[in-house]
Amino acid sequence: MAEHTTRERWTNWGRSAESHPVRTAHPTSTADVVATVREAVSAGLPVKAIGASHSFTTIGATDGVLLRLDRMTAIVAVDVTTRRVRVQAGISLHDLNPLLRGRGLALPNLGDVDPQSVAGAISTGTHGTGGRLFGISAAVVAVQLVTAAGDVLEIDEHHPWFGAARVTLGALGIVTEVTLQCVPAFLLHAREEPLALPAVMEQLPSLVDDNDHFEFYWFPHTTRTLTKRNNRVPEGTARRPLGRVRRWVDDELLSNTAFEGINRVVARRRSWIPRVNGVAASVLSAREFVDDSFEVFVSSRDVRFREAEFAMPREALPHVLDELAAWFGAGHENISFPIEVRFTAADDVWMSTGHERDNCYVAVHQYWRSDYRAYFAAAQDIFTAHEGRPHWGKLHTLDAGYFAQRYARFDDFVAVRDELDPGRTFGNAYLDRVLG
Ligand SMILES: Cc1cc2nc3c(=O)[nH]c(=O)nc-3n(C[C@H](O)[C@H](O)[C@H](O)COP(=O)(O)OP(=O)(O)OC[C@H]3O[C@@H](n4cnc5c(N)ncnc54)[C@H](O)[C@@H]3O)c2cc1C
Repeated sequence: MAEHTTRERWTNWGRSAESHPVRTAHPTSTADVVATVREAVSAGLPVKAIGASHSFTTIGATDGVLLRLDRMTAIVAVDVTTRRVRVQAGISLHDLNPLLRGRGLALPNLGDVDPQSVAGAISTGTHGTGGRLFGISAAVVAVQLVTAAGDVLEIDEHHPWFGAARVTLGALGIVTEVTLQCVPAFLLHAREEPLALPAVMEQLPSLVDDNDHFEFYWFPHTTRTLTKRNNRVPEGTARRPLGRVRRWVDDELLSNTAFEGINRVVARRRSWIPRVNGVAASVLSAREFVDDSFEVFVSSRDVRFREAEFAMPREALPHVLDELAAWFGAGHENISFPIEVRFTAADDVWMSTGHERDNCYVAVHQYWRSDYRAYFAAAQDIFTAHEGRPHWGKLHTLDAGYFAQRYARFDDFVAVRDELDPGRTFGNAYLDRVLG
C-alpha cells in the first residue's frame, strides 16, 4: 500500500512555485495508484503526480494529495524486434538512458538535462532540437492512465485519444506506464563553436537542414553566439569523449561554478552585464567530441534560474531576435543569461507546441535571485505577436482564450478531459487558467 507522510512543503527546481499537499503518497504499482486515487476522490481531495519538479510553472502544484512515482521506476518490458520499451512512468531520463544503452537502444532525441521523469517530460511536451526531429512525446506509442473513476486505461496508437494522451499537462489522469518507440543506440559527433549572430542568421536554413540537431545560444547585448551541431556518425566510428579537464573547464567553470559567481555579482551590478556577456562569449572556444547520444544531449545545470520558452513558426525567428535586440537596446534591463534557440519538426500531438507546425523555439532565462517578470513579460509580448505557443512547463501568463486560438485540437482535448475528469480531481489553478 502507498506510504503517506503528512504536510510537506513542495517547491520546484526553479523556486518559482510552491504548495502544501495534505499528504504525499509513494505508490509502488498501478493498483496502488488506483487505490490512492479512489481514496482521495472519496475524501473530496484533488490529486497530482509530480516528477522531478523541473517545471517552472505551477502546473504540478497541489494542496491535495501529491503522488510521487519514485517507487515506480522499473523497465516493464523490452521488445528487441520492434525496439519498443515499456517503463513505469516514474523512471527518470537519467536512469533510463544508460539502461536503454545497455540494450543497444536510445531515445531519438532529448532535451538539455535528464533529471525529469518520463511522465513529467512527456506531460509538458519536453523537447530538444532537430529540424527533422520531434519532442520526446513523439516517441510515445502507448500510455497507461489511471482515471478519476479509478479505471486503468491503455491508450495506444489505435485509440481515438492517442493524440491527447502524449502531452496531457497532467490533466487527464495519472500516467503509470509508458511504451516508448526507441531507435538503435547511436553516437553523436558534437561540434560547438562561436559564430557571430548575423552569420548564424545568414546560414540558418542550411544549419538547421544539414545537421541532425542544431541550436545556438545568443549572448544578449552582444552579437556573439555559441552554435552546437550534433550529428549521427557512421557505424564503426569510435567514441572520442570530451577529456575530463576540458569538460570541467567548460561546464563547471563557465556554465556552473563560475557562472553562479558571475550571476551573484551582476545581480547587484547590472550595468556590468553587457561587458561581462562579451567576455563570457569570447572565452568560449570551439570543441569537438564523439559520444553516446545522451551524453552529448545532456549537460549539468547547477546555476538555478527561471525560464520562459515559446515555439514559433520558423520564419518568425529573425523578427523575434530583432525585437528582443531592440528591447535590450532600449535599456530596459541588462540580462546575463544567453538566449537559447532550437528547432523541431511538426508533430500530431494535440497539445504539443509542435502540433502541425515546424517550429523555432526561443527561450529566455533569468537568474533565480533576480526578478524575471518585466523581461519575461516583454519577451512574451514579442512571442505572442508571432503566434507563440509557450512550453507548458515554463513561465507564461496566458490563458484558455489564447490557447483555443493557438491549438486546432484545443476543444477536442478539453472534451477528453471533461469525459475523463468531470470533477477535476486532477485539476489545479494552473490548469483552470490554461484549459478553462
Ligand atoms: C534545468 C532545466 C532544464 C530544462 N531543459 C529542458 C529542455 O531542454 N527542453 C524542454 O522541453 N524542457 C526543459 N525543461 C523543462 C522540463 O523538461 C519540463 O518542465 C518537464 O515537465 C519536467 O519534468 P518533471 O519530471 O520534473 O515533471 P514535473 O515538473 O514534476 O511535472 C510536470 C507535469 O507533469 C505532471 N506529471 C508528472 N508525473 C505525472 C504522472 N505520473 N502522471 C500524470 N501527470 C504527471 C505533473 O503533474 C505536472 O503537471 C527544463 C527544466 C529545467 C529546470
